Amino acid sequence: MLPSRASVLVLGGGPAGFMAAITAAEAVGTAGGGVIVLESTSEPLHKVRISGGGRCNVTHACWDPRVLAEHYPRGGRALRGPFSRFASGDTVAWFEARGLQLVEEPDGRMFPCSNRSESVVDALRQAAIRAGVAVHTGQAGQAAEALEGGGFRLRLRSGATVLAERLVLATGSHPSGHRIATSLGHGLVEPVPSLFSLSLGDHPLADLAGVAMDPVQLELLLPPAAEGSPPPPRDAHLRQRGAVLITHRGLSGPALLRLTAFAARDLRMCRYRAELRVDWSGGRPPAELERWFAEARRDQARRLLGNWRPWPDLSRRLWRHLLERHGLGAELRWADLPRRGEQALITALRNSRYRIAGRGPFGEEFVTAGGVPLAEVNLATMESRRCPGLHLVGELLDVDGVTGGFNFQHCWSSGWLAGRALGAQRMCS
Ligand SMILES: Cc1cc2nc3c(=O)[nH]c(=O)nc-3n(C[C@H](O)[C@H](O)[C@H](O)COP(=O)(O)OP(=O)(O)OC[C@H]3O[C@@H](n4cnc5c(N)ncnc54)[C@H](O)[C@@H]3O)c2cc1C
Repeated sequence: MLPSRASVLVLGGGPAGFMAAITAAEAVGTAGGGVIVLESTSEPLHKVRISGGGRCNVTHACWDPRVLAEHYPRGGRALRGPFSRFASGDTVAWFEARGLQLVEEPDGRMFPCSNRSESVVDALRQAAIRAGVAVHTGQAGQAAEALEGGGFRLRLRSGATVLAERLVLATGSHPSGHRIATSLGHGLVEPVPSLFSLSLGDHPLADLAGVAMDPVQLELLLPPAAEGSPPPPRDAHLRQRGAVLITHRGLSGPALLRLTAFAARDLRMCRYRAELRVDWSGGRPPAELERWFAEARRDQARRLLGNWRPWPDLSRRLWRHLLERHGLGAELRWADLPRRGEQALITALRNSRYRIAGRGPFGEEFVTAGGVPLAEVNLATMESRRCPGLHLVGELLDVDGVTGGFNFQHCWSSGWLAGRALGAQRMCS
């Protein structure tokens, strides 16, 4: 039964909402009753369940709050404060204290040791039950009103209303949460997609779908700004280095997704039309490539170009593709490689340019950039600076991270800070 009153009402049963509700309820111990979560769908924590390809990349093994904050294209520096109070190490300890062990992969991503996202869902649900949090599903919040003497009246889509002393908005990127936040006095940074792959149209590179190269250096070349509009920023974030995957539509992989996350707004502004400079050699100096070519010419003179790559980690399929693009037969011997052909290959390896034809499908994480500006929130408590008693957490805020567990980390951090502040207030009242 949906209560008509609650001391803390958390709207949205995602990871940020659960963390806020559990922390608030745990803080007041047996008096935990009165913390409720309202979730519009029948399945709370849905994104946790489908996350990380069904494995849930819970956080990232990045222990320094300053370094952690660098993984957020929106948020960045402002997150140093929240992360100095609750960061990846605290997440690991928090889940461990609730019976869930996380393990680190070589690239720093952290998953439950069962390798199943269901374990994370279970851990959160069990912790909520133990703390006395009541989760009500199929309850969509539609409008909220701040009451004169303090507290809130929340109207649900069903027509029911609930009075709450404190309201936590944890609705992710859903427009209904944005509407409620703006009706309570908040601004909204336009939500745009982040973390997507890039389409190269019908470029022949698509024939190499499945080829992965690491490291590759990428640089996004944005078109000049239209007259009268501000020039697009050209900062270091428009360059990324790391693993790249060729897909049947274009390019993806961690480095590419990092690039599109940092450039999410710029790419949107130019309607996903720009140029991408790809250094397949991973940023090796030209002299090093020239030396490799000279060695291959001398030591592998009788070998065919198609059978001997200048360095072993260069994908055979990519090498053959570049030979073909430059009219150099794979059957040519290394000794017979013309100087001009060699220069063309070195340039192609270091500086291939691709016209971006559009936004590809999303990476394995899909997040929204934009939301309620961080400046409107007290980042020690996640309480609104515009509407006392209202707390805002998770993806609803103008924060998003790159792939690797950073998006959940922000949910755990912001949810915990809000929950702790709410718990402390309830203890005092
Ligand atoms: C396929 C996929 C895979 C991902 N994998 C990862 C990963 O491995 N690691 C990682 O760090 N990040 C991952 N992410 C990103 C991560 O899931 C999100 O950043 C995170 O879920 C945001 O949490 P949240 O609690 O703010 O919002 P959400 O998870 O979106 O939860 C909000 C909840 O509020 C409910 N709601 C919305 N409006 C209302 C309303 N008006 N009334 C009541 N309820 C409402 C929604 O139904 C939802 O349950 C992934 C995302 C996707 C889509």
